[in-house]
Amino acid sequence: MTSPDSGLAGKVALVTGGSRGIGRAVVERLAGDGMDVVFFYRGNGAAAQETVAAVAAAGGKAEGLPVDVTDAAAVGAAVEKVIESRGRIDLLVNNAGIVRDNLLAMLDDADIRAVLDTNVGGVFNVTRAVVPHMISKRSGRIVNLSSVAGEKGGRGQSNYAASKGAINAFTKAMAVELASRKITVNCVAPGVIDTEMSQAVRELAGDEVTKRILLKRYGRAEDVAHAVWFLASRYADYITGEVLHVDGGFKME
Ligand code: NAD
Repeated sequence: MTSPDSGLAGKVALVTGGSRGIGRAVVERLAGDGMDVVFFYRGNGAAAQETVAAVAAAGGKAEGLPVDVTDAAAVGAAVEKVIESRGRIDLLVNNAGIVRDNLLAMLDDADIRAVLDTNVGGVFNVTRAVVPHMISKRSGRIVNLSSVAGEKGGRGQSNYAASKGAINAFTKAMAVELASRKITVNCVAPGVIDTEMSQAVRELAGDEVTKRILLKRYGRAEDVAHAVWFLASRYADYITGEVLHVDGGFKME
């Protein structure tokens, strides 16, 4: 799907975790509107190549770089590479994230640290590397992937909920800090989306979760990608510091 009047054609996007799930849908949506998209992925080179091939088959431009967002030095070097080759980054989508669900007493240090290091530390690493380049252009968009879990309590999700609540707070603080530089910062907070990340939860919960979603279905990665696209587009020029839920009404049940 393309929207030639979105104002995105020819601009450069950096998407973290673009090899599968929501990140892949975001890469495809943005490239479909003519953006030159670079994405980071952690381990799965084959999935990254599939994303690049799907974008190319649709006539778009995307490149995948194997960069772990928890590695600040690797992130810094990769962002410099993108700036050297493209000259700018107009849009940053902080999408990479993980879950390690368990009741608090059963969570070991590694489960807590991995989730906070990736979902919060990773967002700091990438945003800190990209923002100076946006400031120098006096323009930019940042869209962070939060979660309904950032506001709605969920059993076995203390580490994940804490990480996403932090992202909501980070988004608002950055919106204040960067507004004078004409950079907007917003969040998309998905509910339960049909990706590999939520597979275990969906299998365990059966119909129980869909019953509690007002629209009675899981979300699709594309549902989330449309919201990211909107916040990146010129239609969201006057929106900053917001958390846009894409959850079929899940947070209200
Ligand atoms: P996913 O597990 O399908 O994909 C996650 C992506 O992040 C993968 O491409 C993975 O390689 C990448 N990634 C993970 N750790 C990384 C690291 N250290 N460095 C670089 N890349 C890394 O997950 P998804 O469902 O597509 O989720 C994407 C985002 O949306 C996450 O931030 C997640 O918390 C959020 N979210 C998902 C759901 C859901 O139901 N699926 C709900 C709410 C929020």
